[in-house]
Amino acid sequence: MRIMSEDEKPILIIEDNPDNRVLITDMLHSMGYQVIEAPDGDSGVRLAHQHRPALILMDLSLPSKDGWQATREIKNSPELAHIPVVALTAHAMRGDRERALEAGCDEYLTKPVSLGELSRTFSAVLGGRAAC
Ligand code: MN
Repeated sequence: MRIMSEDEKPILIIEDNPDNRVLITDMLHSMGYQVIEAPDGDSGVRLAHQHRPALILMDLSLPSKDGWQATREIKNSPELAHIPVVALTAHAMRGDRERALEAGCDEYLTKPVSLGELSRTFSAVLGGRAAC
């Protein structure tokens, strides 16, 4: 189990499907992270500015603003560009991953996401800080 420091930054999950959001939030809690949840692209970008999370999990198919557009806005923002964005891709649609990386995503995970995949991806993207 990781030791949490008081000033440790949360993970932001932007996902419109409530079941997926709860599932992944539970996994993140079990990894010792604090979690902020957003159900659409607009509120996701707003919460990213507000909380400056350690990492953003970005569903691609989202209402109000899709995940590609939200990622581009985050990566074009000087205050947010350093934050790793991991795309959540549904049913491995052809081209989704390539478009996600083009939009600035650092990594991607195909749904359904397992705890092991989440943990490995966090380790890769965040370095030693993500070990759990
Ligand atoms: Mn979605």
